[in-house]
Amino acid sequence: MEVYQGKSIFKGIAIGKLFFYSKGEQAVKREKIQDVEAEIARYEAAKEEAIAQLNALYEKAVKEVGEVNAAVFEVHAMMLDDDDYVDSVKNIIETQQVNAEFAVATTGDNFSNMFAEMEDDYFRARAVDVKDISERLVNVLSGRNEGSDIGEEPVIVVADDLAPSETVQMDKDKLLAFVTKYGSSNSHTAILARTMNIPALIGVEIQEDWNGKLAVVDGYEGCLYIEPEEEVLVKMKKRQQEDVEARELLQNLRGKEDVTLDGKKIRLYANIGSGKDVASVLANDAAGIGLFRSEFLYLEAEDYPDEEAQFQAYKTVAENMAGKKVIVRTLDIGADKQVGYFGLDKEENPAMGYRAIRICLDRTDVFKTQLRALLRASAFGNIAIMYPMIISVDEVRRIKAIVEEIKKELDEQGIRYGEVEQGIMIETPAAVVISDLLAEEVDFFSIGTNDLTQYTLAIDRQNMKLDNIYDAHHPAVLRMIQTTIDNGHKHGCWVGICGELGADMTLTETFVKMGIDELSVSPSCVLPIRKLIREMRVEE
Ligand code: PEP
Ligand code: MG
Repeated sequence: MEVYQGKSIFKGIAIGKLFFYSKGEQAVKREKIQDVEAEIARYEAAKEEAIAQLNALYEKAVKEVGEVNAAVFEVHAMMLDDDDYVDSVKNIIETQQVNAEFAVATTGDNFSNMFAEMEDDYFRARAVDVKDISERLVNVLSGRNEGSDIGEEPVIVVADDLAPSETVQMDKDKLLAFVTKYGSSNSHTAILARTMNIPALIGVEIQEDWNGKLAVVDGYEGCLYIEPEEEVLVKMKKRQQEDVEARELLQNLRGKEDVTLDGKKIRLYANIGSGKDVASVLANDAAGIGLFRSEFLYLEAEDYPDEEAQFQAYKTVAENMAGKKVIVRTLDIGADKQVGYFGLDKEENPAMGYRAIRICLDRTDVFKTQLRALLRASAFGNIAIMYPMIISVDEVRRIKAIVEEIKKELDEQGIRYGEVEQGIMIETPAAVVISDLLAEEVDFFSIGTNDLTQYTLAIDRQNMKLDNIYDAHHPAVLRMIQTTIDNGHKHGCWVGICGELGADMTLTETFVKMGIDELSVSPSCVLPIRKLIREMRVEE
């Protein structure tokens, strides 16, 4: 048995086989080969296999997201057969007498750089596609696991690091836990682990030869046991059973009100990243959805999700929540949430860069598509819309003007929509300081403590080295929360928290005493917080 220590980002025990997830982008070695013809034949076979994979993906995607969104897989299959691309690979194998992996990777880099430098947006976006098909080919050639496929059995995924776009594409039923070398507790991958209710460790010195070995992740102590001794296995299974029993005990709180002993009612909502998470929202009896991170719809797709695909996604969530509030946060990409087809430039300071509402107010075509889908879906349930990363009154007014424009369009087309509350996320110090002015413009505030902490303390939430001083309990952050609540209330807004701090049970009482109206937390945190709320008294 070997034991490794990491930092736990979600408590719980997982027992299962380790699956070493390697990214397509791994360094490819240049190797001299003797038999050029055999190497070309190996490349041809890999190309056929990659095309078969893409055809299968296309069929699957047509069923799940419709023909338009699936088309990208067809395009990728065609690109693999493109004469210029094929000739370049073969030419490198022949003239340099090198392995096919190297020839493919070199062609991929060359073509992608060439596309990236083109003026035309369409061609620039193809740079990502060429990289993608080349990675797929390299994976097939080297027998690596492809993309986010983690196989058929439930596994503990081990990786250097995981991007939100990778995590979100993994089959959630097969994920027992994550163990990564890099990453921070406030990254979106960590947030996803909490939403999925699976234990996760970061900062573990991982090794590739662990693949397939039995392991235990102890999210309470931050330990990873490789090939655990019988004694450890027995102890961990017992702990796992205790967790199940504790969760069962909380079940008697289902259907109960979120109200303190002295009668203060709190709206206890849940955060989700996709429609699939609604099952867990309902299972944990949240009173609504306080944050639907809509960008995961974009991260899961291979191209811009169209209005119809988004409408269906929002409508289904609204219907499944049956009249309970569903607050959808409009597209918040950039920083750690990169979406290839947007063709965003690499930035020196992405957290403070071109992201979230800044992109939406610039790319109004993308923004309008989402808003139309949301307004149409609002006819089928209780949808509210929330805008991320706001720093000014002007931004809010511009957004509201766009919403009015779309409502007018829908009226003219005779398309129904419901009464939609509009709110903003308070996640920049600027928004806190002018929260009195912003409150005049909107119906509600939702405090995004993850970003608010990052910007208030000037600590990059992604930086693993600073994880220890990223302190969401810092008095500056707590004062910002109090200011936001007070200004919101004075000017007619209700105020919630949807950042991770909202689920910090050491602060629940503080927030309730500060006057918070709503807390939105990972689904599995709803019942434990309900218990706390029902046992506390606000008045001293
Ligand atoms: C936040 O910043 O607190 C928040 C909820 O948004 P995200 O974590 O998605 O940036
Ligand atoms: Mg945020």
